Amino acid sequence: MEKREEIYKGKAKSVYRTDDPDLFIMHYRNDTSAFDGTKVEQLADKGRVNNLFNAFIMQKLAAAGIKSHFVKVVNDNDSLVRKLQMIPVECVVRNLAAGSICKRYGIAEGTEINPPTFEFFLKSDALHDPMINDYHIVSFGWATPAQIVAMKELTFKVNAVLKQLFADAGMLLVDYKLEFGLSQGEVLLGDEFSPDGCRIWDKVTRKKMDKDRFRQDLGSVIEAYKEVGERLGVDFSRLPD
Ligand code: ADP
Ligand code: UDP
Repeated sequence: MEKREEIYKGKAKSVYRTDDPDLFIMHYRNDTSAFDGTKVEQLADKGRVNNLFNAFIMQKLAAAGIKSHFVKVVNDNDSLVRKLQMIPVECVVRNLAAGSICKRYGIAEGTEINPPTFEFFLKSDALHDPMINDYHIVSFGWATPAQIVAMKELTFKVNAVLKQLFADAGMLLVDYKLEFGLSQGEVLLGDEFSPDGCRIWDKVTRKKMDKDRFRQDLGSVIEAYKEVGERLGVDFSRLPD
């Protein structure tokens, strides 16, 4: 697989074309951003850790029948993915209250959310990712009603699989954000699943083990990401088969 030119540089990853028109390389950088890109730092080893973390999760999801763009890890910071036409919305599920839902509705952090909530946000840093609903998505042409159904179903399937996976390793999956895209008309999970885009707490102490450590200047950010992965069974000393 030949890596060709960079076609998109996001806040944390870059997308490269390859010699296969259906495949991209997703390059995980050490750049770490928060607050719509206004707080940015380089955290040593973050790109490699998230690349290997994401590969582990995508393989678990595939084993549970959830299809994603992930093909394989090619080196420490790169993974091969299927090219998707991204749907410009973020799908957020919450099992416990944290972050924006606490501010928006005056809910105490840590309150159990039962049943878990589902929220759509428009993926737009310039507009600060405003919350949107199904009507906005259809009326403005961001996705069809059938694609909305597929995104919700897949996002909740991911919750069932990952909530249990984290619980078995002594952690709480508080909330997470997923992105989807289209490949030959099919809605596939895209982007990444790593501690950059979810909240994970220790089940007993409720220690924060995700990007909130960066947002809130709690320190030991990548140490915490690695601890989460190691508890799940990620081997950070080698590339997966
Ligand atoms: P952001 O754009 O939010 O700064 P990243 O730095 O993570 O995010 O950049 C990765 C970009 O690649 C995102 O815009 C994401 O929507 C997009 N993307 C993720 N998976 C795919 C894919 N399989 N094909 C095309 N684009 C993708
Ligand atoms: N999230 C994300 N990217 C975004 C917005 C949110 O990955 O652009 C994740 C975030 O890490 C958390 C979940 O989605 O796990 C819910 O985020 P929230 O709405 O609470 O926003 P925040 O207060 O984190 O900005």
